[in-house]
Amino acid sequence: MNKYQVNKKGYYGPFGGAYIPEMLYPNVEELQGKYLEIIQEESFQQEFNELLHDYVGRPSPLYLAKRLSQRYGVNIYLKREDLNHTGAHKINNTVGQILLAERLGKKRIIAETGAGQHGVATATVCALKGLECVVYMGEVDIARQAPNVARMKMMGAKVVAAQSGSRTLKDATNEALRDWINNPVDTHYIIGSVVGPHPYPDMVAKFQSIISQETKRQLLEKTQNDSPDYVLACVGGGSNAAGMFYHFLDQEDVKLIAVEAAGHGVESGESAATTALGKEGVLHGSRSLLMQTADGQVIEPYSISAGLDYPGIGPQHAWLFKSGRGTYVSITDDEAMQAGLRLTQLEGIIPAIESSHALAYLEKMSFRGGETVVVCLSGRGDKDLDNYTKYFGL
Ligand SMILES: *Cc1c(COP(=O)(O)O)cnc(C)c1O
Repeated sequence: MNKYQVNKKGYYGPFGGAYIPEMLYPNVEELQGKYLEIIQEESFQQEFNELLHDYVGRPSPLYLAKRLSQRYGVNIYLKREDLNHTGAHKINNTVGQILLAERLGKKRIIAETGAGQHGVATATVCALKGLECVVYMGEVDIARQAPNVARMKMMGAKVVAAQSGSRTLKDATNEALRDWINNPVDTHYIIGSVVGPHPYPDMVAKFQSIISQETKRQLLEKTQNDSPDYVLACVGGGSNAAGMFYHFLDQEDVKLIAVEAAGHGVESGESAATTALGKEGVLHGSRSLLMQTADGQVIEPYSISAGLDYPGIGPQHAWLFKSGRGTYVSITDDEAMQAGLRLTQLEGIIPAIESSHALAYLEKMSFRGGETVVVCLSGRGDKDLDNYTKYFGL
């Protein structure tokens, strides 16, 4: 337990909590009351670790990227979440939550998805466990993300179009919450990032903390020192960053760098740079920082990478930012795309455009030389090939 972790009431400093309609109390209170006990059970831990090993393919390698390292005169290790089953870190969380749902006796799973990555990770674990799966997705996103919609359907999930508002992620989230209110007894809602009412931010961070747990062990093996100088990760809602930071939080000499999407530029009106632009407020059930107008309307975020296109950040990140424990920066579309091409040509690894944002910040850092840097490579770039090839005219 340390000052950067959630307290008993579900808060990180002033952020977090559970700001929900009264009709959701039974569902959320059930989770608050049971999640810690369930996930600490030996049988839970055993099944979770077995699935992470045999199904997800963990431990993911910690790869010393030599040619990338040479460019900056430091030792850069990539934590290869891109090599996980389904191609990103999101599966760590959905495996954990499906095991929790089973132990709560739930028969039906719902989820929201924007780009479809979390929808696919949820549909995957529902197929694995033979549970009914309903994924809410904005009508606009369904049209934009056809391959992920096809994957979900093939795995037996029902994809329901959210047709209100801007017909994107936040509307899908509203539909999912409505469903949960109507089906409180048999349904578990799998949220895809460290957002939502307590206990979701803490629960998702704990499932993703396998990333830093493995990293420390792997660093110790490779360098005889389990503490890097810097740890970098991209932030949409913040789950891969929360997992990458988790076991380093109380080692204040390890610098934590979170990279948000600046889109066309922080001042352009088209970005997702929440810490630069956001103000305190309540979004999707917790108190955090979010991009909003003077009268509190949520501003539509923009980023070339669908996974970073979120108007808020999880409450733990808001606290790491405000307390100064973490450094929060942002990277534009153009800078991210260049970093994605650079990694591909220096290392033969095509990163998700989300992960390219973290890689791009290396260009802006000043090093003494010889430091150890870990970058979370949150996902693979196959889903982004169209975007990359069009951007570079290949
Ligand atoms: C969804 C996604 C992200 C952003 O989500 P976080 O919760 O901030 O981690 C980052 N990278 C990839 C590859 C993703 O699919």
